[in-house]
Amino acid sequence: GSGSAPDYLSGLNPEQRLAVETTEGPVLVLAGAGTGKTRVLTTRIAHILATGRAWPSQILAVTFTNKAAREMKSRIGHLVGEAIEGMPWLGTFHSIGVKLLRRHAELAGLRSDFTILDTDDVTRLIRQLIQAEGLDDKRWAPRTFAQMIDGWKNKGLGPAEIPEGDARAFANGKGRELYAAYQERLKTLNACDFGDLLLHPIRIFRQHHDVLAEYHKKFKYILVDEYQDTNTAQYMWLRLLAQRPKTSSAVQAAEGRARDRAPGDFSPAPAAVTRSEAERTNQETAQPPQAAERPASENKPTQQINICCVGDDDQSIYGWRGAEVDNILRFEKDFPGATVIRLERNYRSTAHILGAASHLIAHNEGRLGKTLFTDRPDADDAKVNVHAAWDSDEEARAVGEEIESLQRKGHALNDMAILVRASFQMRSFEDRFIEIGLNYRVIGGPRFYERQEIRDALAYLRVVAQGADDLAFERIVNVPKRGLGEATISQIHATARALGSPMLEAAANLAESDELKPKPRAALREIAANFARWQGLIDTTPHAELAETILEESGYTDMWKNDRSAEAPGRLENLKELIRSMEEYESLRSFLEHVALVMDAEQNEGMDAVSIMTLHSAKGLEFETVFLPGWEEGLFPHQRALDEGGRSGLEEERRLAYVGLTRAKKNLHLWFVSNRRIHGLWQSTIPSRFLDELPEAHVEVAEGGNSYGGYGNPYGGSSFASGRGGFSAGRQNPYGASRFDSVGSPSGARAARGDQSGSGGGAFSNTYATPGWQRAQ
Ligand code: ATP
Ligand code: MG
Repeated sequence: GSGSAPDYLSGLNPEQRLAVETTEGPVLVLAGAGTGKTRVLTTRIAHILATGRAWPSQILAVTFTNKAAREMKSRIGHLVGEAIEGMPWLGTFHSIGVKLLRRHAELAGLRSDFTILDTDDVTRLIRQLIQAEGLDDKRWAPRTFAQMIDGWKNKGLGPAEIPEGDARAFANGKGRELYAAYQERLKTLNACDFGDLLLHPIRIFRQHHDVLAEYHKKFKYILVDEYQDTNTAQYMWLRLLAQRPKTSSAVQAAEGRARDRAPGDFSPAPAAVTRSEAERTNQETAQPPQAAERPASENKPTQQINICCVGDDDQSIYGWRGAEVDNILRFEKDFPGATVIRLERNYRSTAHILGAASHLIAHNEGRLGKTLFTDRPDADDAKVNVHAAWDSDEEARAVGEEIESLQRKGHALNDMAILVRASFQMRSFEDRFIEIGLNYRVIGGPRFYERQEIRDALAYLRVVAQGADDLAFERIVNVPKRGLGEATISQIHATARALGSPMLEAAANLAESDELKPKPRAALREIAANFARWQGLIDTTPHAELAETILEESGYTDMWKNDRSAEAPGRLENLKELIRSMEEYESLRSFLEHVALVMDAEQNEGMDAVSIMTLHSAKGLEFETVFLPGWEEGLFPHQRALDEGGRSGLEEERRLAYVGLTRAKKNLHLWFVSNRRIHGLWQSTIPSRFLDELPEAHVEVAEGGNSYGGYGNPYGGSSFASGRGGFSAGRQNPYGASRFDSVGSPSGARAARGDQSGSGGGAFSNTYATPGWQRAQ
């Protein structure tokens, strides 16, 4: 453009600006961590709005977490200089999926008030189905099957579409049957699982072209963050929304071929159905234009596809959950004429941090080409610190002290994060921080909502909100104990089947019949009457108040008040917290929806607090100071990845390490312990190979005399190991010598392993290319 640029554009570098201003046509931004990909997306939305290209409701924007969606919304508001009332379609794939499905539930055989089941519900449901088939649920574990179903759904496969081999692999060949029965059961329950939130809309789009056309017309701009971690189902979903063939036959052609593609087969030829190819097919088969019968909107030339995806192949960390990094590779094939933009300047981290991260990730082979640099002077910056501790409690104590010392120097807790490889690692930090009164919040896991008392309370609320929610009903029908034994429960089941009604209704029926003994009968009568009364209060009573009433009147709160166990007071507090948190939501339903969707349960919201989360949920975030504990073989890289044997598992672990390192802006502390309790057993550990893959120029090994326990130099022996052999003395180091076992001669160890040393200077530029993807831009 000409003239002076609006404020929100002025801070961008030329490539970023190109990515923001190329609003029309497909755009892919492929760039390393901290180069401003998310900032580009945010600014792009602001730009689209500010220039009047679209209304907020015409923009579909996908983020990886709900938290990221909230942040993006508020930043857009800042950039545009006004509060954005409603970016209704900005959210995660799942939250957008729920919204779509609520609108078109009937097309999926559901009512719009359907329940979203969590994994716990799903597992219980599957157990029932397996038992109903007369199969042994010990031999055929419900959880395993739940995971299989999830895997199929990630690939976009319904019961009819799963590969024969998969179907045969479970329950004596009954895999497909069970999957189908599961889907049927969900329908009866008016419920769906997480996978359905994508799969149902995909079905609906495929089968109802009028519905799809409605969204083609609606969404003028589509934006996707963290594109490298989209799975096949998400990819199909996006393509359906973003690709707009001219005619419905082209839709079918494209769709048919997308379906034909075997999972994981990303070979270019048949799968790459591009718009132009679809058009060509159309011409070749000499289809009449059919202009007369077509609605005006479809009659126009194919609408421009304004999709913008940003991602980084080095940060693909959800392969284990079905993500297909190849989706990035396919972008140019899927969207011909795409503008591919690379961002190379990192704005987030110091040269030491960036140097460490770049050097580490260079050990991976399967990479696209990428360059990263920072022109930040590194003279005053701290190197990456590596610390050792005796065990995880010691580690937590030392990290706690480091945090407090930073705090005394004026650093905010909000600027610090502890990123763990496995969630069990959180326990020692949580315990320690509670002990010393350090505010923290756990982000990313549904931890709070997973607690027993919270689940029970939610089950009550779910039945009140949606009477057909049998799983929830079953969970609490005898909690607190009401003298309802297994026999009564099966009788309720039988009645429900006979009547074709939900269990709650069946219970009400049974309470009026004389089939039951007086005691259970009275209990059921009371339950039925209670739920009827509570349901009647929904519209008149504020939902938080209603929840409190329900927990009181059901006897649930009393159950914990009368409980003598040590946890009981904490549980009561959690219940109070639950009710308090409900006040933030408009309705009971929106609250329950939030709970079902929430991936990031935050405590200490709004307070200055250290964040604790898994590396997986730290994606896209940044903090002044980052602590990465537990860099030991078997934990990080994780044993599962090592057991796989192949390269891919280990490389995904390394990408996870790269994600962790690149979250830090200024200070980065890595930790390893020499003893760890895993599954209740003490094990002595070996420092992670990833530590050895860090370049010496950017790393400083913390020496003794630290505040964390007076062990002296942990590498030089003392309480950690005998003599100068350090960590590998007396222990088998499976991958050769470690730099960390020979403090005196680090380079010797590296040489012994044949490491190629990268450049170690302040500004660096490592380009690693995989043949076939380096192309002229
Ligand atoms: P990740 O791969 O980790 O998701 P990213 O590429 O999305 O990273 P951002 O989070 O968008 O990167 O940006 C990283 C940091 O750099 C942010 O603090 C952002 O505000 C800042 N930043 C990005 N671009 C610029 C710029 N042109 N000028 C100043 N700061 C910038
Ligand atoms: Mg980002």
